Amino acid sequence: MNKQLRKAIIAGNWKMNKTRPEAKALIEDLKPVAANATCEVVICVPFTNLETAVALTEGTNIKVGAENVHFEKSGAFTGEISADMLTEIGVEYVIIGHSERRQYFGETDETVNKRTKAALAAGLKPIVCVGELLWERECDITEEVIARQIKLDFFGVSAEDLKKSVIAYEPVWAIGTGKTATSEQAQEVCAFIRATLAKLYDQDTANAVTIQYGGSMNPKNAEELLAQPDVDGGLIGGASLKAADFGVLLDAATNG
Ligand code: PEP
Repeated sequence: MNKQLRKAIIAGNWKMNKTRPEAKALIEDLKPVAANATCEVVICVPFTNLETAVALTEGTNIKVGAENVHFEKSGAFTGEISADMLTEIGVEYVIIGHSERRQYFGETDETVNKRTKAALAAGLKPIVCVGELLWERECDITEEVIARQIKLDFFGVSAEDLKKSVIAYEPVWAIGTGKTATSEQAQEVCAFIRATLAKLYDQDTANAVTIQYGGSMNPKNAEELLAQPDVDGGLIGGASLKAADFGVLLDAATNG
């Protein structure tokens, strides 16, 4: 019942893939595939493809997101992009704290928190990624890890802003590995995230937040994952690079 309170969001994370001609071709293929989706459809693309994606999706139901954002408004931050730079070209979403950024680029919960606040202040909808390492799951501390990330990543974020945010539960061991969490594991952690939000905020606020699962979601496993009561959509890497596969996931979210 609570699931109906939230809009399912399927977001593609293209990562560092697609030249501009390749991006144009994929977006043209995605348009008919996405046209009848009843879930929110988002494509998060590399910075160089953002303007192209915004222009090509104008008048469609496909929203555009970035894959990172800096927390300062401007200044000496070589290689970084601010939230205002994203909103001024029509970007609506931004992925923050993806495990690849945490693993390879020194992203911490403190910087995730700063980026999340900066995104919200500029009117962007953050997709904040949390998830445990395989070692942490094996040591049976998944809930501690997730609770800590949620507390730190949303520290100082108001209930109103939290409702504009999306949380992606992405077990690190399942990203790009072909290993998917079982639907029970995904549901268990997504429900735990909602319970943690209810403690930190209140139940109504927690019920309003879209919580996605991400990690090797594909046409074969999507339906079962997306049918779980606390799984409100997906953050999709590999399967977002093929229009037909992404279309199956959109249908699963529409039906789920
Ligand atoms: C991701 O990059 O967020 C992701 C879930 O990747 P994949 O679907 O390829 O595991």
